[in-house]
Amino acid sequence: MRINRRDFLKWSVAAVAALKLEMDMDKLNTVLAADTDPPVIWLLGSGCSGCSISTLNVTNPTTIEDVLQNKISMKYDSTLMAASGESAMQALENAANQYNGQFILVIEGAIPGGASKNYCIIGEQDGVPLTMYDAVLKYGPKAKYVVAAGTCASFGGVAAAAPNSTGCVSVKSLLSGQTANPIVNLAGCPVNATVMVQTLLDLILTGVPSLDNNSRPSKYFNTNIHSVCPRRGKTQVPQPGIYGCYKAVGCRGPYNQSPCPSLMWNNKQGWCIQSDHPCIGCTSPTFPLNPIINA
Ligand code: SF4
Ligand code: SF4
Repeated sequence: MRINRRDFLKWSVAAVAALKLEMDMDKLNTVLAADTDPPVIWLLGSGCSGCSISTLNVTNPTTIEDVLQNKISMKYDSTLMAASGESAMQALENAANQYNGQFILVIEGAIPGGASKNYCIIGEQDGVPLTMYDAVLKYGPKAKYVVAAGTCASFGGVAAAAPNSTGCVSVKSLLSGQTANPIVNLAGCPVNATVMVQTLLDLILTGVPSLDNNSRPSKYFNTNIHSVCPRRGKTQVPQPGIYGCYKAVGCRGPYNQSPCPSLMWNNKQGWCIQSDHPCIGCTSPTFPLNPIINA
């Protein structure tokens, strides 16, 4: 039986999800690199890969299988791809050159500038180490769109928290004025999967969405959590884990905008306050504050 590209991808991604089946990863990489869908390059800097994991769990507006099979062509993603070393770096360079001005560059994690940029080296090109810092400067201006996935990429986040000994900076602070289109900040620790995938689809279908003052898509970040919180008017409680309002323990809901109350997490299973924990403001440019909460 002949297996077509779509069938093959469906099978392959299902196998990844199951985490039990053997896969021909070389074959999968070849299929993923086919010239049919909008090209995406995903770079990971100083981060925990949480934004990748969050994205892989997407269920709304569609599944990750559908994204990979029908919506985008992932050309380079060091977290997901089987290729490594020289062949991975060659895939990155080839994709950026072949799709110069056409690809979407997703950057996850902050970008360390300390120690002569050497805290994060993503590989070697022609025997020369390529730092994350230089990779962003090299590929950012070649991209059609640049997306900062998560708060570390958007604002520095946890990676740039004081004393920031690795000198981490955000995507926008490094690439400001050097990109074809405005950088899109998808804040969140991690990024919400729906926000991530829907924004990729928006970029492909209609271009850069309307952005707020922090370069976040307005449609997701125009809601103040406190203003729609179901715990408003409830008794203030002295610690997390108890049903009530968390203002007394430093809930950041009154100062933070995010789509959590409506989009929620894990296929709409819940969100922080619904799970009896204060909002810690993870979509804010000031995240993480110290202390995170006052309890
Ligand atoms: S729990 Fe937080 S967001 Fe909700 S009402 Fe209290 S202070 Fe506001
Ligand atoms: S409720 Fe607050 S801390 Fe929790 S995910 Fe949403 S923005 Fe982040």
